[in-house]
Amino acid sequence: MNAQIINLLESNHIKPTPMRMLVLEQMMVQKKNLSLAEIEELLYPSDRITIYRTLQTFVKQGLAHPIETAHSGYIYALCSDNCKTDNHFDNHPHFFCEKCKKVICSSDFLFNLEYKPNAKFYSVEKVEVTIKGICPDCNKS
Ligand SMILES: [Zn+2]
Ligand SMILES: [Zn+2]
Ligand SMILES: [Zn+2]
Repeated sequence: MNAQIINLLESNHIKPTPMRMLVLEQMMVQKKNLSLAEIEELLYPSDRITIYRTLQTFVKQGLAHPIETAHSGYIYALCSDNCKTDNHFDNHPHFFCEKCKKVICSSDFLFNLEYKPNAKFYSVEKVEVTIKGICPDCNKS
């Protein structure tokens, strides 16, 4: 596990510090995307500011992306291999489960953005799509 964590950090040009390793480990082992408050709780009594800065580093280096949610502010999801330093390609939809409140990065849905001629007058910075419904886990039970 540790080797895997160090490897992932280094491939995103992040120096592995104990705090960065702890935060990344939680993001890998927990079965859902986590908010700052949730990570803080899991790593108690670690300092909130340090955890926050760690997450910002992950975002900057293309390791994680923030998702804005209505219920718990920003939560953080690990990126796919496509993301690099200062260059995110997370244009996948996020699925919000209305039962368990989990937010899932979902590549099970495909969106095709069709750019029409007038689109060139817009500068698109980010595409965010949220789908709401019941997730596969909740559908099973
Ligand atoms: Zn990303
Ligand atoms: Zn669910
Ligand atoms: Zn995502």
